[in-house]
Amino acid sequence: HAKATGGSRHCFYSPAMKEDARTRLTLRRELQIAIDQEQLFVLFQPKVDCSSGQPEVSGFEALVRWQHPEKGLISPGIFIPTAEENGQISDIDRWVMEQVLEQLGEWVQRYQDRVMPVSVNVSASLFSRAHFAETLLEMLENAAVPAHLIELEVTEHVAMAGFHRTLETMQKLKSMGVSLAIDDFGTGHSNLAYLREFPVNRLKIDIAFVKGIELDAKKQGLVQAITDMAKSLSMDVIAEGVETDAEREFLQSVGCTCYQGYLFYRPMAAADIDLLLKRDGGQAGVMHEK
Ligand code: C2E
Ligand code: MG
Ligand code: MG
Ligand code: MG
Repeated sequence: HAKATGGSRHCFYSPAMKEDARTRLTLRRELQIAIDQEQLFVLFQPKVDCSSGQPEVSGFEALVRWQHPEKGLISPGIFIPTAEENGQISDIDRWVMEQVLEQLGEWVQRYQDRVMPVSVNVSASLFSRAHFAETLLEMLENAAVPAHLIELEVTEHVAMAGFHRTLETMQKLKSMGVSLAIDDFGTGHSNLAYLREFPVNRLKIDIAFVKGIELDAKKQGLVQAITDMAKSLSMDVIAEGVETDAEREFLQSVGCTCYQGYLFYRPMAAADIDLLLKRDGGQAGVMHEK
């Protein structure tokens, strides 16, 4: 769009751009219907910890999906950016959080201390909203879910916007017992001085640095640096998008022992997570989405 063209301040609408604007308007309208009529649903992707040598499930990431009545399944890569532009993202994020809390409430009743934390992606507009932490606390209390079962994933962009306000929100969340992760780490502009001050529990190494890491010296250097930095900041580190044994082996050799990726598990329905939680110890087998 106009912002991406850089130099020119004028924006001449071509037929293609009009089409694009219309498409976005349709998407916006349909997304509102999706929110109202519950066409959205949440999948959970297990994360594994291999530090003991054996893969053990250590938690899940909640990932939203949209079952469109005519267009079928739409991935968040398509509708989240639009929702971020038009302000619908906060409604989606809040809806996802409610679903996750409801699910966690059930799991707490069913599995007590075998329940594992769920991380939820939070967009800039929700995270930076006044009283975000207080609102979340209220939601946790209403759902009778202990705060340590929720981890929030924010991107570098969210974390680095406005130091004092962000720090204040993060400190409130920390005092509540909610964990924080920086998502897609390495793709944005992290201010390392900020990062040092923030009470962040985990860095998630973006899939871009993981894909084919065994063949790429630059990716190797970056992942090594991120892993070492996380250690020196007393943060955990997890690699996203691990698909092959070669990637996993290389990550392990630089000290990154927690993974999220198709090599272990795909995003799954809550009912499939139930089967995992029922199994004692949560030992991960290789399990693929149908
Ligand atoms: P993300 O938060 O970085 O989530 C990880 C993405 O990587 C997910 O894509 C997941 O399905 C995918 N993934 C996991 N393992 C692998 C793998 O081994 N290979 C490959 N190629 N991909 C893998 P998904 O579910 O399509 O979500 C895309 C993005 O949409 C997310 O990236 C996140 O930024 C956003 N998103 C998803 N759900 C929500 C939500 O509820 N709220 C907000 N604000 N954003 C969300
Ligand atoms: Mg995420
Ligand atoms: Mg990510
Ligand atoms: Mg992402």
